[in-house]
Amino acid sequence: MIVKRIEITHVRVPLVEPFRISSGAVSEKDGIVVRIDTGEMEGFGESSPMSGTFYSCDTPESCWQDLTAQLIPPLIGRHFNSALEAAESLASMPGSNFAKAGLETAFWDLEARGRGKPLYELLGGTDKPVESGLAVGLYDDTAELLRAIDRYLQDGYKRIKIKITRGRDVELVRAVRGAFGAIPLWVDANGAYDLSDLETFKALDDFGLMMFEQPFAAGMLGDLAELQRKVRTPVCLDESLETTSDVHRANAFGSMKIANIKIQRVGGLGPALAMHDFCRGHGIPVWIGTMPELGIGQAQGMALGTLSGCAYPTDVEASSRWFRDDIIEPLLEVKDGLLRPPCAPGLGFAVSRAKLERYAVASRQF
Ligand SMILES: [Mg+2]
Repeated sequence: MIVKRIEITHVRVPLVEPFRISSGAVSEKDGIVVRIDTGEMEGFGESSPMSGTFYSCDTPESCWQDLTAQLIPPLIGRHFNSALEAAESLASMPGSNFAKAGLETAFWDLEARGRGKPLYELLGGTDKPVESGLAVGLYDDTAELLRAIDRYLQDGYKRIKIKITRGRDVELVRAVRGAFGAIPLWVDANGAYDLSDLETFKALDDFGLMMFEQPFAAGMLGDLAELQRKVRTPVCLDESLETTSDVHRANAFGSMKIANIKIQRVGGLGPALAMHDFCRGHGIPVWIGTMPELGIGQAQGMALGTLSGCAYPTDVEASSRWFRDDIIEPLLEVKDGLLRPPCAPGLGFAVSRAKLERYAVASRQF
């Protein structure tokens, strides 16, 4: 694969409803679509941080800066034998994981197309349907939260994940259990708590939740291990796991029983595969999280979700769940709670040039 041209487009698509977590909210989805052109083929990737800095310190603007100033110029004219080789090269370059993910994943699309294989097969997965889980943000009003869950449960989503924050936790879970009974359910705190909240987690322990996702801040591996020793519910890490060595460290501490892998947070599919393989080798079940990304990133997540170590439903949802429109064709659909990976070579979805233009905020070619 010779990199002849790279085009990046910053797009902004309105959300169906604001997405709120313990540290902030957004009402539009920003993404940077990366197109790598080899002269014979094109491959697409997506760099997809949240706007604002409430999930990580990455923003669309900081990723744009990383891509245009540091990552893209040295790639023009380079030759790579495989996506993994490109991934290794990118890993050694300065720039954030979210920015690198846009480029890195485009190389996987290129390699899969070149080999005539669907992306999931290149990654080592299968064509099995992937279970989709519903993620629900924070609401001011519990009745509104219950209505949202009720509305989407009808699409057959395989589990419900609700966001919690201090003061909106035990009673929220009690209300969901009261309304919907023993549905597969877990909570995501996005790091909002610490060990002083131990009693809250002990109370949550009684609700049969599938996991506590990222109860404490990313770096608190020792405290997370202490929490895990004191509760029955498995602790799952998300924000803590940016690199493969983070996964090694969290495992050594005993800070998690489950790992969430996000392509964006870890810098692409190569690092995601390395984390998946480590976890599978150490008996840690994984699942694939999302930001959520637009369709390109979500389709990558679906492909990754077919790997054998993925034991819980993914965050990848139907395009219409969060977005008023999407940039891929066809749109992602969930039927009976399942996503079906397309068997066409590469990502398996077309990227709509017309929609890129419609939602473009900025665009640049190299
Ligand atoms: Mg999370």
